[in-house]
Amino acid sequence: MNSLEKKFGKRLKKGVSLAKYTSFRIGGKAEYFLAVKTGEELMEAVGFAKKDGIDYVLLGGGSNVLVNDAGVSGLVIKLSITSYEVSKKNITARAGLTLRELSKLASENSLTGLEWANGVPGTVGGACVMNAGCFGREMKDFLVKVKYFDGKNIKELAKRQCRFGYRESIFKENSEWIVLEAEFKLKKGDKKKIIKQVKDYLDMRNERLPLDYPSAGSVFKKYEIKKGEKLNLYLEKIIKKEHPEFLAGHYIPAGWLIEELDLCGKKIGGAMVSVKHGNFIVNIGKAKAEEVIMLISMIKQKVRNHFGIQLAEEVIYLGFD
Ligand SMILES: Cc1cc2nc3c(=O)[nH]c(=O)nc-3n(C[C@H](O)[C@H](O)[C@H](O)COP(=O)(O)OP(=O)(O)OC[C@H]3O[C@@H](n4cnc5c(N)ncnc54)[C@H](O)[C@@H]3O)c2cc1C
Repeated sequence: MNSLEKKFGKRLKKGVSLAKYTSFRIGGKAEYFLAVKTGEELMEAVGFAKKDGIDYVLLGGGSNVLVNDAGVSGLVIKLSITSYEVSKKNITARAGLTLRELSKLASENSLTGLEWANGVPGTVGGACVMNAGCFGREMKDFLVKVKYFDGKNIKELAKRQCRFGYRESIFKENSEWIVLEAEFKLKKGDKKKIIKQVKDYLDMRNERLPLDYPSAGSVFKKYEIKKGEKLNLYLEKIIKKEHPEFLAGHYIPAGWLIEELDLCGKKIGGAMVSVKHGNFIVNIGKAKAEEVIMLISMIKQKVRNHFGIQLAEEVIYLGFD
């Protein structure tokens, strides 16, 4: 019996199917699985895992991950720490709180800024790692600081030190770091207007996104056009004519590229490119991670061949190393 097993006894589960912990409903089993309820437990779990030579990985809401069909070796830690404090215009939330709960908390306290977050699945921790966002707003716009555990000590980074970028952060670069809590600074607003804005955003998401099937949200990042970059002439011609706003904004939505190639509805096994939104791959029934990966490769190849653009995944692969 290793020290993790001795410490956590029956709470440390073996062979738990991870599919039910992901929004994609895909993936094999975790060798070890532990839901931690306090920061102390988390530190103990990491300490014992290290002592036993067991790798660990964090799972928040599982809404941006694709888990290997073969499962994940080592310890999967599910953060279930959800407490929070509200002080005047600031909210400090533990990493396991969902974005929906965070946004709701802000509205209840007449604080504006996080209306967009209500419809984004996942947790505060995962959203800090991913610098999640929509409707032109991102986590970084409202963060003051982030507390994290680096595997040895609890530390804190001010927002400017977190190296936030488009779906990027210092936490994504350091996969052994664990986000524990985040402090947000918001503004006082009119409660009725805030609630109305939340509803409007939710309505827009319901209309645009294929929320009736399991998925991991956007599979690819939008393509950022670099300064001075020469686009493929064919692509430039279409964009200039039909979407000059892409050139002005220096980006091309991945979903648009995929839709232009008529890939919506393309299926491999139980995985399908959504007919509603080109950047979503949906699980239409017992999809395997392998099938999703084949679709991803096919999309990348076709986009590269037709438009000379290399798409990069936003979705995170778990258990593939
Ligand atoms: C239907 C749908 C719609 C979506 N819409 C959007 C959208 O509009 N905008 C957007 O940005 N995203 C969107 N997403 C993706 C997803 O909701 C966000 O990326 C979310 O922030 C992920 O949070 P999570 O807790 O689920 O993270 P997970 O998916 O559990 O994990 C993501 C990564 O973060 C790591 N991680 C998780 N928690 C921690 C922690 N506490 N410390 C350190 N590492 C951690 C994981 O190991 C993994 O590498 C959508 C997803 C779905 C399914």
